[in-house]
Amino acid sequence: MVKAPDNIVFFGPPGVGKGVQASGLSARRGLVHFSMGDALRGEIAEGTELGSQIEEALARGEFASDEAVLAVLEKHLDRHGPVTGLVLDGFPRTLVQADKLEQLLRERGGEISRVLLLDAESEVLLERLTGRLLCVECTRTFHKVFRPPERSGVCDECGGELSRRKDDSEEIQLERLDTYRHLTKPLEGFYRDRGVLEIIDGSGSIEDVAGLIDRSLGGN
Ligand SMILES: [Zn+2]
Repeated sequence: MVKAPDNIVFFGPPGVGKGVQASGLSARRGLVHFSMGDALRGEIAEGTELGSQIEEALARGEFASDEAVLAVLEKHLDRHGPVTGLVLDGFPRTLVQADKLEQLLRERGGEISRVLLLDAESEVLLERLTGRLLCVECTRTFHKVFRPPERSGVCDECGGELSRRKDDSEEIQLERLDTYRHLTKPLEGFYRDRGVLEIIDGSGSIEDVAGLIDRSLGGN
């Protein structure tokens, strides 16, 4: 019997490269990448009540509330049906979310098989966080150092103008790192108790970190 693809959770501080790694892993193994950040931005773009609550929280340098992100997650799970082969990134961030995620997956016949904690020093994270650029037209992201556009300030994809993400100032990022440590650290213990936690050094290049992830997951 073919084993159902695993559901994998990526977590770690902002700027550690969860998004890039989750998307790379999904592509390598034919899994479905679910980015909570993208889902939240999508909700904001749709202009829903939920979206405006989320937008206000992010503008204050906070994370979206448990209720808000869980509502967004449930929308997605219901829209996409099968809950195997998901790579979750940017979620869960709190114990409340982790508990609820377990429950939502169980109700749909799924479970979390592996949790990868990507970690790096604060200085590394700040350098990465403050260099992100966002296309105002198509929302594609670039990075001054790690993924520069071909022409400075112009989106490779659509020619749109690139701007620094609204929430990327250093002060706001420091606050987000503090909030992350405060809220997310307990998740480490939660998943370690379940025997699914792996800690990955996220400070190397994208390729190096991808190699560490593949080695940790084993198989294909
Ligand atoms: Zn663009």
